[in-house]
Amino acid sequence: MEESPSAARLTSRFVAGRTIEDALRVTRQINQGGSSATLDYLGESVTTGQEASAARDVYLRLIEAIHAQNLNANVSLKLTQLGIDISEQACRENLAAIANRARALENFVRVDMESSAYTERTLALATALHSSCANLGVVVQSYLHRSEKDIEELIRCGIRIRLCKGAYAEPPEVAFPRKSQVDASFDKLGRLLLLTGNYPALATHDEKLLLALVRFAGDHNIDRNAYEIQMLYGIRRDLQARFRAQGHRVRVYVPFGGAWYPYFMRRLAERPANAYFVARHLLRR
Ligand SMILES: Cc1cc2nc3c(=O)[nH]c(=O)nc-3n(C[C@H](O)[C@H](O)[C@H](O)COP(=O)(O)OP(=O)(O)OC[C@H]3O[C@@H](n4cnc5c(N)ncnc54)[C@H](O)[C@@H]3O)c2cc1C
Repeated sequence: MEESPSAARLTSRFVAGRTIEDALRVTRQINQGGSSATLDYLGESVTTGQEASAARDVYLRLIEAIHAQNLNANVSLKLTQLGIDISEQACRENLAAIANRARALENFVRVDMESSAYTERTLALATALHSSCANLGVVVQSYLHRSEKDIEELIRCGIRIRLCKGAYAEPPEVAFPRKSQVDASFDKLGRLLLLTGNYPALATHDEKLLLALVRFAGDHNIDRNAYEIQMLYGIRRDLQARFRAQGHRVRVYVPFGGAWYPYFMRRLAERPANAYFVARHLLRR
């Protein structure tokens, strides 16, 4: 179905565009501004092997283009996009194909974390593949009760970790229900990663938390090049610029592609003001 120009305009605040070329153009601008990028070809929960193979092929093209155009960028992907719900074996093969090609071109692949229904399988698959592809990293969510143990185990294996708060609705049995608890957990796990992790990524727009962690790193003589701060495309650009100006490494997560709906809805749900922005846009039409 043809997409309306209005939908493209509406989503452009959080989504770089629909095509690989859009993503590469935005990455070039981000690089020119002094930040690196991680490119996410939007898509999740595919239901056929063909869709999973098609997503794998887009990532392979992306990795080639990043190399050919000498961009400072890596890729982020989801295992439900590579078909984990259809066949774990096929998903592993898709991921291995991407990670192997990235390794050959000295690039890095981040496996995003989805809902808690996938945590165990995602970490198991990534850990198994990491022994042959050290250029593979994972994501840990501070809202999960299990995350401290996961981090300790991942650090033992030398796997690179991105720490985020977590974007899915989870029951209290598996996740902290209160924001203050999620924030406290991020602070604790962030310190653990700064002290013992392998080039951790602190992925949040929470200024207070970032300032506290950056101060902690300074107090412990942790080099600014030993970790990076990550933020989403279109969110807190002012804060991205400020950390960059202070000499911190900043990586921007750049989503692109036609399957923007779930990603866009998660961004709206995170902040009531975003829903007003959408309503205003719709009323203007
Ligand atoms: C680089 C990166 C990768 C991520 N990868 C994953 C992943 O793999 N799995 C996963 O579950 N989650 C992922 N997330 C999402 C994350 O879990 C949070 O849902 C998201 O970052 C919002 O939480 P916050 O840390 O910014 O803190 P919050 O406390 O929610 O927000 C702090 C401040 O940030 C700003 N802000 C936050 N969200 C928005 C928004 N949508 N629009 C406008 N301003 C906003 C506001 O100023 C807010 O006060 C990722 C986030 C980042 C930055």
